[in-house]
Amino acid sequence: MPKIASREIRLVSRPTGIPTAANFTLAQVELAPLQDHQVLVRNLYMSVDPYMRGRMNEGTSYVPPFDLGKPLDGGAVGEVIESRAREFKPGDAVTSNLGWRECFIASPKELRPVSREIQPLSVYLGALGMTGMTAWVGLNLVEVKAGDVIFISGAAGAVGSVAGQLAKLRGCRVIGSAGSMEKVMFLREECGFDIAFDYKIGPVLEQLNVEAPDGIDVYFDNVGGETLEAALSALRVHGRIIACGGISNYNAEKPQPGPSNLFNMITKRLTMKGLLVRDWLDRQGEFEREVGGYFKTGKLKSKETVVKGIDQAVDAFLGLFEGRNVGKMVVELASSRAVS
Ligand code: NDP
Repeated sequence: MPKIASREIRLVSRPTGIPTAANFTLAQVELAPLQDHQVLVRNLYMSVDPYMRGRMNEGTSYVPPFDLGKPLDGGAVGEVIESRAREFKPGDAVTSNLGWRECFIASPKELRPVSREIQPLSVYLGALGMTGMTAWVGLNLVEVKAGDVIFISGAAGAVGSVAGQLAKLRGCRVIGSAGSMEKVMFLREECGFDIAFDYKIGPVLEQLNVEAPDGIDVYFDNVGGETLEAALSALRVHGRIIACGGISNYNAEKPQPGPSNLFNMITKRLTMKGLLVRDWLDRQGEFEREVGGYFKTGKLKSKETVVKGIDQAVDAFLGLFEGRNVGKMVVELASSRAVS
């Protein structure tokens, strides 16, 4: 087999504040010949995710930092090109954590087979992947049930858009905030949210008080900051908060103050539960059966913003912090060559 050239994105310096293209480089490598028990994979899609920003910092977070001068990693879906492992054959579709590169050699345990019957395969990075599972876990974490009024921030993104649709399927009244009128329309018309508003056009609390004058039961927090503070005010007694993310502070150069009204936790007897989706991997099968079922029967829509080419991957990542995605942001790296 001829030698395979593959391009990959490396981190060359640690960002201060908002990352720039200068923090990354695109490098080309030649893959070593395949050995026994190894599999050669070409990535079709890779994921860019907000959590990756934390891994660009020095020091330990809840996930180890990316190494300087080495390729980044993250969720990807690809197809097997060549296999010297009995578990896989050419044409198999697989997910891995070896994104940010075009091709790679892996051991079978680094790969997870996925069905080609579900298309596009990029859905395994979004609605049926890590972000969809985060949405599902969040709702289970605080036992969201029929009749709950739930407010979701970052609602038009990968986690938020699935969380809202799943909450509707549970019989909730769903309110979402997002950063443009285009996103507001997407939430109302395509995702079935009862109410959606643009958090950029006025204070969140004012808008929330108009849209939910009797308060909310649950807040699904993807952004933190001002929106968390507004939700603490809008929550009813015994309200619940799903602490999922805080993207409004991911590029902050120093720690940001917490909400000024945290005392509401006491006076309203609120519950706030943090989640890390990776703690729930033993329930992945259950998630795939339930949410995969909704997807296959058309009850759940999977929206994606697809950017093409590894040379556009950094820009796609930076776009997350400017709200350039509707639904899941994915980068298409190649078209499938397998006969499906
Ligand atoms: P999204 O698809 O929602 O993309 C990020 C979105 O965040 C942007 O589109 C933008 O939308 C919004 N945003 C960017 N900057 C700000 C800001 N300053 N204030 C408010 N909104 C902002 O990302 P994901 O769905 O992948 O992730 C959503 C959240 O969930 C993130 O905080 C992420 O870290 C977290 N997460 C947590 C997991 C866990 O295990 N706890 C797992 C996966 C994700 P807009 O135009 O609306 O501003």
